[in-house]
Amino acid sequence: MAPTYDVIVLGLGGMGSAAAHHLAARGARVLGLERFGPVHAHGSSHGGSRITRQSYFEDPAYVPLLLRAYELYDRIERDSGREIALLCGGMMVGRPDCRTVAGAVRSARQWDLPHEMLDAREIRRRFPTMNPLDDEVALYEARAGLLRPEATVAAHLQLATKAGADLHFEEPVTRWEELPGGRGVRVHTPENSYTAGQLVICPGAWAPQLLADLGVPVRIERQVMYWFEPEGGTEPFLPERQPVFVWEEADGVQVYGFPAIDGPSGGVKVAFFRKNGAPCTPATIDRTVTSAEAEEMAAAMRRVTPTLPGTFLRAVTCMYSTTPDEHFVIARHPAHPGTTTVACGFSGHGFKFVPVVGEILADLALDGTTAHPIGLFDPLRFGTKAETNTTAPASARGGAR
Ligand SMILES: Cc1cc2nc3c(=O)[nH]c(=O)nc-3n(C[C@H](O)[C@H](O)[C@H](O)COP(=O)(O)OP(=O)(O)OC[C@H]3O[C@@H](n4cnc5c(N)ncnc54)[C@H](O)[C@@H]3O)c2cc1C
Repeated sequence: MAPTYDVIVLGLGGMGSAAAHHLAARGARVLGLERFGPVHAHGSSHGGSRITRQSYFEDPAYVPLLLRAYELYDRIERDSGREIALLCGGMMVGRPDCRTVAGAVRSARQWDLPHEMLDAREIRRRFPTMNPLDDEVALYEARAGLLRPEATVAAHLQLATKAGADLHFEEPVTRWEELPGGRGVRVHTPENSYTAGQLVICPGAWAPQLLADLGVPVRIERQVMYWFEPEGGTEPFLPERQPVFVWEEADGVQVYGFPAIDGPSGGVKVAFFRKNGAPCTPATIDRTVTSAEAEEMAAAMRRVTPTLPGTFLRAVTCMYSTTPDEHFVIARHPAHPGTTTVACGFSGHGFKFVPVVGEILADLALDGTTAHPIGLFDPLRFGTKAETNTTAPASARGGAR
């Protein structure tokens, strides 16, 4: 019997909702299965805001994907009628030779991206909320800004449904297997089992359970987002005046922050990037934030801005899924290359790529290959367990078929 669906998408968070949209828009019969309700706060895609930027300090190889993601974000805003992106500008701040600044400059030069270099005096003049040391500089990018994660996921779910996808919520996948002869997959949930030609797995922080046979060491980390009310109010932090920022201290610790987007009493969101990421699982994560943690964040902000921390308002936890080199994993599953595609390990910087990851996953699931540059995201770079699995024809491995 022919499988019921062309593609099943496991997980409808950031990446899975985008994949479901792109697949359905290309005419595939899509089933999406999600453990929780639509747009939830139990994974990695909540908290009101995510930074987006193009002069990418992590690696210039991400830039073409970012340029495409910007186009696709424009398109989903238009097609869904939702406000998602707020390009209020962004600054990468630190000493000129630190990774955050030097890496951003490298990407900007390599890809000829519009940017300005600001010295400490110019930073203080243009952005009085910021308080750099005399030897700190910034790469300022007018096209940087923020994305609203909940609106992004809601838009992709809306567009996927409109294009005919079946989306089932509160229906977790308990296990899946390949059909005999590699004709497709069978996916089981507590209620049902479904068959499809292809499976796309976008498990977020559930990757260690669901993708154990991928052999990629994804570390799940607890991270905290903090909201503070600046001394003297949020006015100077309104998005017309305040850019997003990533600020690297002399010890390599990065803090980042946003303009005030939640109204006069909503405060300003700030966080550490990667620091203090306690290992956890979605079941064991401690959702309580201690006053000692809030005080550590407050102390870091005191250094970089004259009016923060002010008053602590609230804090919310979230999970990073971090790979050893902090690059993503996006590929055909090396052990099941004929039927299964995976996207995980977004290492705390994946959200700005969500729509282009959806496009890549649709390429991989429907065509077996993609024109996007995803060499950096090959799971086999870790010398995975799956490497020893030789049942798949060599030509079908590693994402190209
Ligand atoms: C505090 C914090 C700040 C961040 N800041 C930024 C930023 O500024 N810029 C940026 O670009 N990125 C940022 N990121 C990273 C970005 O948010 C993530 O990379 C992205 O959200 C990951 O999306 P995902 O689809 O992999 O995970 P999720 O959105 O969590 O989706 C995974 C989904 O799979 C579902 N699922 C799991 N198991 C099953 C199952 N068995 N059956 C059915 N469904 C299942 C889950 O319920 C979930 O909905 C940040 C992340 C955090 C936590």
